[in-house]
Amino acid sequence: MLDIRWIRDNRERLEETVAHRGLDVAVAELLDVDDERREALASVERLRGERNRLSERIPLLLREGRRDEAERTKVEAKRVGAELAEAEPKLAALTARFRELMLLVPNDVSPDTPIGATDADNVELKRVGEPTSFAFEPKDHVELGEALGLIDIARGVKTAGSRSYYLRNEGLHLHRAVQQLAVDLLAKKGFDVMDVPLLVREEALTAAAFFPGGRDQTYELPADGKWLVGTSEASLVSYYADEIVDVTEPIRLAAVSSCFRREIGSAGRDVRGLYRVHQFAKVEQVVLCRGDADESERMLQDITRNAEELLGLLELPYRVVAVCTGDMGTKTYKQYDIETWMPSRGAYGETHSSSNLHDFQARRANIRYRDGDGKLRFCHTLNNTAVASPRILIPLLEVHQREDGSIRIPPALRPYMGGKASIGPS
Ligand code: AMP
Repeated sequence: MLDIRWIRDNRERLEETVAHRGLDVAVAELLDVDDERREALASVERLRGERNRLSERIPLLLREGRRDEAERTKVEAKRVGAELAEAEPKLAALTARFRELMLLVPNDVSPDTPIGATDADNVELKRVGEPTSFAFEPKDHVELGEALGLIDIARGVKTAGSRSYYLRNEGLHLHRAVQQLAVDLLAKKGFDVMDVPLLVREEALTAAAFFPGGRDQTYELPADGKWLVGTSEASLVSYYADEIVDVTEPIRLAAVSSCFRREIGSAGRDVRGLYRVHQFAKVEQVVLCRGDADESERMLQDITRNAEELLGLLELPYRVVAVCTGDMGTKTYKQYDIETWMPSRGAYGETHSSSNLHDFQARRANIRYRDGDGKLRFCHTLNNTAVASPRILIPLLEVHQREDGSIRIPPALRPYMGGKASIGPS
């Protein structure tokens, strides 16, 4: 959520941002409702003051024996009370509409974010490693995984419908190994590593700015008034909701969790294999820091580097792109994606998303800290994937495949794989 005072002072900039993001947000209506709400608030406050003044006066007048005046004051207090009874519901309705509109307003965008409509307009910032070339006909991850008994898509679909899968034996071990490697890496870097609630209240998803925009992407459990999180970011951000935190040093949180996504609007996209599924696992980084643009920019570089370090350990070629206005999350101020080389796609595929939200999320979640002058201010929040699996298994299996159909396990993963150096024949 943006600060309404900022919106009032930066209306044109916000309208431009809304257009660059390809959104349709009623900024004019928001400002009108804000004006009406403030007028209504002033008049309710005036009427409440008036009513209180009059009702305090009545017993005084009676004590002094000024009965007529007391009667007139009673009539006057009744009139003010009736006005208030009309004004208060109007204020409540305007406040509710104001909040509704505020929740739809996207974040401001950093000046170095590329302007564009789709991921085709994202700008490559760097490449590490080279796209893999093979001296044999490479297989894709589904062929490799099925041949080695690691992946069973057909039975996943039988049990759970499209975009479902089973991981078996070394498929499961690999899935858990990448997550544990990521958890250990982040714990070593000072992250608080957590297991978090995945069934959460609507308020948690609103506070973390996934709602209202992401409601249709989220699984609801109406009988319990709960929702299944699409990412542990929601649970991690909510951890400090409504609290005043100490961010003298940035707070680094990480969780390993299942993630659930309806993938509405993805019909026909990425239908083969493990790329886009309804349930996956993710190790997520969340950082809370002072509301200082330089500090949160440094943290963005920091959490992006953590993910790059992990890809280095997995020995996978990747690139970092600056995500354009039309492709970035509406709550995001600045976003990098890391895309890892996926031989079967003949392209880089998104495996990590690194975002600086400035104080947009902290305003909704009401997470504040005291600055050097003791003044309460909203934190900046950031998040990035550390690893998401099974999507990362696509490059892991495909890049490290050998001609005999076996898979080389990078040394960093071997301690998590019972010391094994490969999966399969050789
Ligand atoms: P996000 O939380 O949307 O920024 O996504 C973070 C990462 O989670 C992506 O870069 C992917 O690696 C992974 N991911 C997101 N959605 C899916 C999905 N439907 N299926 C598999 N992996 C996903």
